[in-house]
Amino acid sequence: MMDKDCLFCKIIAGEIPSAKVYEDDYVYAFKDVNPIAPTHYLFVPKTHICCAKKINAENSQYVAKIFEAIAKTAETEKIDSYRIINNCGEEAGQSVMHLHFHMMAGVKMGWGKHSLG
Ligand code: AMP
Ligand code: ZN
Repeated sequence: MMDKDCLFCKIIAGEIPSAKVYEDDYVYAFKDVNPIAPTHYLFVPKTHICCAKKINAENSQYVAKIFEAIAKTAETEKIDSYRIINNCGEEAGQSVMHLHFHMMAGVKMGWGKHSLG
């Protein structure tokens, strides 16, 4: 099910342009328009799920498919090391209310409380 008012549903439908990096029956992936790493892709389910809070027994297959898609993309593009991030909720930094996983690579990344900004 798609949401006609959702930015990422419109991108999946091709109504808004995007730089596609991967697609299958369950998953669409495209370049983040405002990258914060040399490689910065967004992986989204081809159904409208607002956020990680709404993952359940009926739709969790989409999450599995996204992680498969990320692994395939990394293999194809020979990306050896990367970070996968999901922001859930406003305080965590979620700005688009369609579930998405950031895949970021190409830079040495920090880890620790200061990396949370
Ligand atoms: P988040 O802040 O976790 O909700 O991530 C939303 C991401 O979507 C941000 O990194 C934005 O740069 C990205 N974004 C917003 N609009 C577009 C767009 N039209 N095409 C590609 N990426 C977008
Ligand atoms: Zn949507």
